Amino acid sequence: MNKLKIMKSSVAKWNRIIAGESSDGGVVDCPPCRIYYMLICFGCPIAEYTGQKFCKGSPYPRWYWHHIENHDKIRRKVYCPTCLQYATEMRDFMQEIVDHLEAEENAEPKGDDPTDPS
Ligand SMILES: [Zn+2]
Repeated sequence: MNKLKIMKSSVAKWNRIIAGESSDGGVVDCPPCRIYYMLICFGCPIAEYTGQKFCKGSPYPRWYWHHIENHDKIRRKVYCPTCLQYATEMRDFMQEIVDHLEAEENAEPKGDDPTDPS
């Protein structure tokens, strides 16, 4: 699975949470965590983008602590307008990384070099 696909499934995950169809299980159901977490959080596109591990620098800690302080439930999903706001921020942040990866991919030279005379 490439990074772009992983991040697109993250956007889809947060869209389901925003729609009230799903909950957030953190590491267990975060598509990039499942591949990159491994206790050290290495190589994840989110960590590369923020320059920080464990989703620091993303809206995730706000979402996480809001749930601990306000809802105290095992399943993190949308319970109140603040939840919805943070979940939306998280979805937008994932989308921002998708856009970033797409721009990077388009910037890379594509095999055949048009300036090569052979
Ligand atoms: Zn809430």
